[in-house]
Amino acid sequence: MASISRRDFLNGVALTIAAGLTPSAQLAAHSFRPYPPALVGLRGHHEGAFETAHALALEGRTFAADRLPVEERYDLVVVGAGISGLAAAWYYRRKNPRARILILDNHDDFGGHAKRNEFKIGGRLLIGYGGSEAIQSPRSLWSPIAKALLRDLGVDVTRFDRAFDRRLYQSLGLSRGLFFAREAFGRDVLVPGDASGLSGDDEARKAGNAKPLSEFVAAFPLSAQSKAQFLALYDASRDPLAGKSTAEKLSLLKSTSYRDYLIKICGCAEEVADCFQGRPLGFYGLGADAVPASDVRGLGYPGFAGLGLPADADHGYSEPYIYHFPDGNASLARLLVRALVPGVASGKTMDDVVLAPFDYRRLDAAGRNVRIRLNATCVNVRNGANGASLAYVRGDKLHGIAARHVVLACFNMIIPHLMPQLPQAQRTALAQNVKAPLVYTNVAIRDWQAFAKLGVHDISAPMSFHSRVKLDFPVAMGGYRNPRDPKEPMIVHMVHVPGAPNQGLDARTQFRAGRGQLLGMSFADFEERVRDDLDRMLGPGGFSSARDIAAITVNRWSHGYGYVENSLFDPADYKETVQIPARQKFGAVAIANSDAEGDAYAHLAIDAAARAVSELIG
Ligand SMILES: Cc1cc2nc3c(=O)[nH]c(=O)nc-3n(C[C@H](O)[C@H](O)[C@H](O)COP(=O)(O)OP(=O)(O)OC[C@H]3O[C@@H](n4cnc5c(N)ncnc54)[C@H](O)[C@@H]3O)c2cc1C
Repeated sequence: MASISRRDFLNGVALTIAAGLTPSAQLAAHSFRPYPPALVGLRGHHEGAFETAHALALEGRTFAADRLPVEERYDLVVVGAGISGLAAAWYYRRKNPRARILILDNHDDFGGHAKRNEFKIGGRLLIGYGGSEAIQSPRSLWSPIAKALLRDLGVDVTRFDRAFDRRLYQSLGLSRGLFFAREAFGRDVLVPGDASGLSGDDEARKAGNAKPLSEFVAAFPLSAQSKAQFLALYDASRDPLAGKSTAEKLSLLKSTSYRDYLIKICGCAEEVADCFQGRPLGFYGLGADAVPASDVRGLGYPGFAGLGLPADADHGYSEPYIYHFPDGNASLARLLVRALVPGVASGKTMDDVVLAPFDYRRLDAAGRNVRIRLNATCVNVRNGANGASLAYVRGDKLHGIAARHVVLACFNMIIPHLMPQLPQAQRTALAQNVKAPLVYTNVAIRDWQAFAKLGVHDISAPMSFHSRVKLDFPVAMGGYRNPRDPKEPMIVHMVHVPGAPNQGLDARTQFRAGRGQLLGMSFADFEERVRDDLDRMLGPGGFSSARDIAAITVNRWSHGYGYVENSLFDPADYKETVQIPARQKFGAVAIANSDAEGDAYAHLAIDAAARAVSELIG
């Protein structure tokens, strides 16, 4: 017990102990050997990671960077050890194999959003994803450059055809379900049998116990009139925009939120719109009130079938959502780190990286060409005569380094604070990338018999604190075996998106409000909401949070998805006037990170890295 600090208790280790389980692996890892993926409690933007950056950006604190002695010199310094920063190091080293490279990150783990969470429950290892979750549509969305990196790292996406068991939950009679929270709908009701497939298509339609739509809707706690309105949204013979031309219809969908479309154009009651309010949250970081109707038209949302519009141009989401390592895209980060830092982990395949032990003590070993320095926040970058100088804070000490080149693979919005030298127009453009906050909570439970009893594996809860509650993806590879029997321990993945919906606020204002909410919440606050939602959703199936929860890891991403152009709030020339001007190279400094490419995707983080390196060294 001596090695468990008060903060461990506040951050959830105590919960593991209280549950009567043995958190020994986690504590051993925590106390004697740094192994961040096994830490439970408040992760993501965890305590200790963001305070220096906030002092710089929010409190206007200045750091005496100009008088700092140079402690180290590198060919390349990368700020940010997410997929983009790691890929930048990889591309730079490929051009210049002897390059000396330092990667800085403010977290205690590498990978940025690509975060691995581990639990050991009763001797059983459970691996989950704490952020970036899947390789989205590798055939249609990934550029040749990003695909080539996958190949070079040994990733063959056809491997997931076998590794991802698309039939498991179906074979157990489980389907998606919809949860109606009493605060919005008068009573708590879980309705299993959702065949609509609005969320990722990782299973066959009509899976498990999915029901015909009318039977599914009959169980909703809505008035008869609202149920009829709900069903009418799926009626292809009804055109709510009859009389308008195709161009007029498309333009109207771009300038109308989906919620307004449902209420003002399709004539739905508020309670019908509430059934969809939280459903885009996990994908956009915004509810139906702030997502354009045009954006959700191609994603299976109803109300558009009778408009007579041409099929939505290929939006890239027709591929199955199965390209998922057990730890999500954290495996991409691990593959990059293994390739960059010899000796940090053994193995050489996409399978063996899943269970490969990583020795974090070797990440920043003296004498190595590539070093990854964690818990290090960059606070200043300046161009000079022969490259650039950087200052970073580690512990409470300020350090100076010099580099021939710098790649800023951090967030766009911190860059103006790091580089006061940048032209004002570029600083303004960078600051517009306000990231969407969101929380991925992984809850290790002793068994999932309540899910089996209720006939659900994936619950959408459009008006609840957690808008999505689902069993982990059924992926087995590299010796890792996913839970298959409801009597086994399991990870429940829960999504929370904060914000200020239905107040007429634009996306950036909602994101800022949401970030404030997240930063004001302790682990105990999150835990309370986790227990409340799980007890209410699964209680009728016999679930008891007091008995069934073994451990909780809250991945709080106050700066989550990079900003995506939104036709409700941004000008049509956003890309040309904001996105591209923001990422311009400045002297010895180039800008990577998925923010720079305008969407929150791993493949764009890689594209950004390749572009930034080619701007620096051709
Ligand atoms: C919850 C969540 C789920 C996602 N799911 C998917 C998905 O399924 N598929 C997909 O393709 N993408 C997904 N994404 C998008 C994700 O952003 C990208 O996949 C990718 O991980 C982005 O990598 P990056 O390196 O560009 O940025 P990041 O991962 O954000 O890495 C940037 C790093 O720089 C650090 N940093 C910032 N400022 C400083 C500083 N001053 N000093 C030092 N370090 C600093 C940051 O803290 C961070 O660690 C998801 C994102 C989130 C938040």
